[in-house]
Amino acid sequence: MTRYSTPAAERCVLAVDVGGTTMKGSVVGEDGRIRHSLVVPSQTATDTEPIDAVRALCLRLRDDALALGATPVGVGVVTPGIVDEAAGVVRYASNIRFRDVPLRTLVGQDLGLPAAIGHDARAAGLAEAVAGAGRGLDNFLLLPLGTGIAATVVLHGEPVTGASWSAGEVGHTPVHPGGEPCSCGQRGCLEVYASAGGMARRYARLGGTSGLDSQAIAEATGTDPLARSVWDTATHALGTALTTLTLTLDPACIILGGGLAEAGAQLLDPVRDTLRASLAWRSAPPVLTSTFGALAAQVGAAILARRAAGLPVPQGWGAPLPESVGLR
Ligand SMILES: [Zn+2]
Repeated sequence: MTRYSTPAAERCVLAVDVGGTTMKGSVVGEDGRIRHSLVVPSQTATDTEPIDAVRALCLRLRDDALALGATPVGVGVVTPGIVDEAAGVVRYASNIRFRDVPLRTLVGQDLGLPAAIGHDARAAGLAEAVAGAGRGLDNFLLLPLGTGIAATVVLHGEPVTGASWSAGEVGHTPVHPGGEPCSCGQRGCLEVYASAGGMARRYARLGGTSGLDSQAIAEATGTDPLARSVWDTATHALGTALTTLTLTLDPACIILGGGLAEAGAQLLDPVRDTLRASLAWRSAPPVLTSTFGALAAQVGAAILARRAAGLPVPQGWGAPLPESVGLR
């Protein structure tokens, strides 16, 4: 592509969050605001491989950015799974069928731009550290609660990757040893009870209406004893897992994100109560909801893209405007 720069052309970065069901892409302006976004299916009815869909989305975003009069200067792509950020390779991501995909090189060469790849939950933690609920904190934990549950440990403002790029898989922490089976092959894992997907599955398995999602279960807790029981089991399991994490890491705060966190006080209050009651000799850290919600990983991808392009990412970059909070 032709690279050019005029005083009128705004520099922008392209940010892509690859999920198991959909891929979300954005053109993000110099001020961290999303100028344009696209959502496409990760896997189509045709034989298009997810990797081809990612590359096609990046090219569409570049063309859309140019049409908007913005000049792309970098691209960031985040995925679930085991992401080797140093090598730029997605080692393994089961639900998007990635195995040793050199994503950074592929996307960077397609676009002729500096590129970065990252892990979706770690990128979300980065966004919260720069401009969200973790801003200004030396260390905190972020748990996105979605189909599964991951945790990002942010230390000195940066997400901890672990020795093999696998830190934070707390969804498979046993909270009920010998309990209900998990897709990982173990029993009694946290995400069986406390993820959005796990709650919906438990509700159906215990005799409730099939297809009711976690939001509907939350809304039914006042009238439906089974919904009440599934919800209470979930918040208790989460509080129990947070007790272990608090005792291990002593975080300044714990931030809950993902779709489930939109339940607000209905989730936070019982989780805080369990955590407080389980900690005998020390106080509980504050438990808050995420600032960026479902957009956190995308904002994190934009931060990685700016870093790849050699641009600064000041504290507060991309912070939602006060009136836009809650409108995501
Ligand atoms: Zn498991």
